Amino acid sequence: MGDGAKRETCHHLEFGQEYSNTALSRTIKLASLKQTASQGCTACAAIQGALDTYPEPIGMREIRSLRSSSKTVGGPLILEPTGYTSPGEDPLYVKNLELFIRPGDQLVWPAIGYERDVSEDSSSPEALALAQGWLKDCLSGHPACPAYVESSLPTRVLQVGSDTMNPRLHVTNGALGKYAALSYCWGPPPHHWKTTPSTLEDRTTSISLTELPKTLRDAVIITRELGIPYLWIDALCIIQDSEDWASEAGKMGEYYSNDVVTISADGSTDSHTGCFVRGNRRFSSAVPVVFEGKDSAIRVRTCSAWPLDGAHPPMAKRDGGKITLNTRGWTLQEQILSPRILHFSAYEAVWECASAMPCECKLVPDKPLPMRLKNRLIIENTIPRSAIKDNTPNERKGLILRWNQVIYDYTQRDLTHATDRLPAVSGLAAVMQTRSTGDEYVVGLWKEGLAMWLCWQALTPPGTGLTARAKPPSKRLEKYCAPSWSWASVSSVVEMSLQDREILYEGAKDSPIEIKLNVLSISCTLAGLNPFGNVSAAELHCKGTVVPVVLQQTNATRQLYVVSERAAESRKPTALVYRDTYEENGEIEIGKRYFLLVVISHRPARNDPQYRSLVYGLLLRKQSLEKYYRVALVVGYPNDAIGRYFTEDWEAVGEMMELILV
Ligand SMILES: [Zn+2]
Ligand SMILES: [Zn+2]
Ligand SMILES: [Zn+2]
Repeated sequence: MGDGAKRETCHHLEFGQEYSNTALSRTIKLASLKQTASQGCTACAAIQGALDTYPEPIGMREIRSLRSSSKTVGGPLILEPTGYTSPGEDPLYVKNLELFIRPGDQLVWPAIGYERDVSEDSSSPEALALAQGWLKDCLSGHPACPAYVESSLPTRVLQVGSDTMNPRLHVTNGALGKYAALSYCWGPPPHHWKTTPSTLEDRTTSISLTELPKTLRDAVIITRELGIPYLWIDALCIIQDSEDWASEAGKMGEYYSNDVVTISADGSTDSHTGCFVRGNRRFSSAVPVVFEGKDSAIRVRTCSAWPLDGAHPPMAKRDGGKITLNTRGWTLQEQILSPRILHFSAYEAVWECASAMPCECKLVPDKPLPMRLKNRLIIENTIPRSAIKDNTPNERKGLILRWNQVIYDYTQRDLTHATDRLPAVSGLAAVMQTRSTGDEYVVGLWKEGLAMWLCWQALTPPGTGLTARAKPPSKRLEKYCAPSWSWASVSSVVEMSLQDREILYEGAKDSPIEIKLNVLSISCTLAGLNPFGNVSAAELHCKGTVVPVVLQQTNATRQLYVVSERAAESRKPTALVYRDTYEENGEIEIGKRYFLLVVISHRPARNDPQYRSLVYGLLLRKQSLEKYYRVALVVGYPNDAIGRYFTEDWEAVGEMMELILV
């Protein structure tokens, strides 16, 4: 039978038809497959041939049937086996079979469309040629992506050299140029390759590639292949163990947002695993399907059925926790600020920008993931390389509100040094303050609307609704890095839920939010050279209603609450307490006297005069005469069914006074 000739298909396959997504699904019983194949159905013979390639397929003891499906028209035919899994085999990890035709080969049936072979570790000329193409496409014509403008190079960059010329460290003096940046995990020490005051001078002459660990070495090779002259890697371009580190840390946001591309070592847990990672590939190597007695143009490979939604593993949300890079605190700002990311995952190489998500396997690229696109767009559309005045109030609002989500994501990640809590997100804060909102950043919060930012809540694993990754209970950081009123002073996941209600900038006249706290002044003493980093002291001078309260706990649920000392027994305002820390550090003691500082009154249903407000406040302990420190967020709810809460009374029982929060 010659190429292009009509091939036989039997009733249950209809391979000759163009499929739409819904029409494609068919269940093929294995018992009948053998029979129809032997009766001359070439389609059944091809499927039988594909199955014969994997005689013990795919984590199953017995396959009863195959369900054919395809996520994209024109893409591969995916066969999902159904049957019995072997003992101990997780059905989620049963493999699917993918049947496809390579670009350039002729279609055999329309149902088996085009896809590409995936190389063993993305270091192949094919994979690197694809990466070059993705970069070129993005720079030359992606409408949703920001135009690339050559900007000042980082303080130092690695001149990547060539096959015949070693890389070397280049001191740029702010010259313009094109550079890539590497996003990766350092992994545990020692890190001999890092640049220190004593190795700096040698490194400006030459660095042998063999001196570098594999992840860094691979990144040099990728940068060369992409035709980019310079590469920024923190371990090499910042002088470690010196003052340089603190000042460069604050510029990292700019470095990642101005690069041509960020090379992301997703498949690597440390500096040694490499960007090019073997093993744990999503696909097996593809082989030709044998039928009609010879190799056909149809290729088959196994493909992990996980994730089931077909999203690419590097970016699939539910898979996120498995990629070490996505669990590291430092990499969040790199991922948010980089306009173009080239991922080297354990599965394949994947491009990510605001317009598309092409990868090694797919001929028709995936659309970018909405969540990440959202990150990207908000940052890019509201942080153009232009001045602050170009941003409309709405854009500023969107960006500021976004900070809550940034911190919620960020505080779920891990930091090797607990004291990096402010430094590791300082690059993003710097970019937001200087290029976008113009708002002043204050130890993790924003000066505009500060009262609301002060109402952050420390979440702890039980009942937080977080991903499976558990965090230990919240602690106050051992070393002072931020005042008690900043989320950066505690170790937990943090949420600032008021911001999510999108009310920050609503007109004061009918806003349901009433700010009750008057911030008079803030003074911060920086701990180092990074203006967005740690502080050695910080005081917030404010004026508001303060109510002496006693801390109590319910017997049944052990919920903490406070009761006003002063109110009449019959009508005592109470409020629930959400503590900042869960350690025995003396911050929280039942029966002790505290001070409730009223910060916000929130009227959820403002048209109903009967409806009472929520009150948000801070629970304070007295440190000295007029200095107080925060130990919890307090929320007074409207009176419940048994009339327990009378939040509107908080102001009545309190006393207006000036105080200093430390
Ligand atoms: Zn058939
Ligand atoms: Zn793009
Ligand atoms: Zn792919």
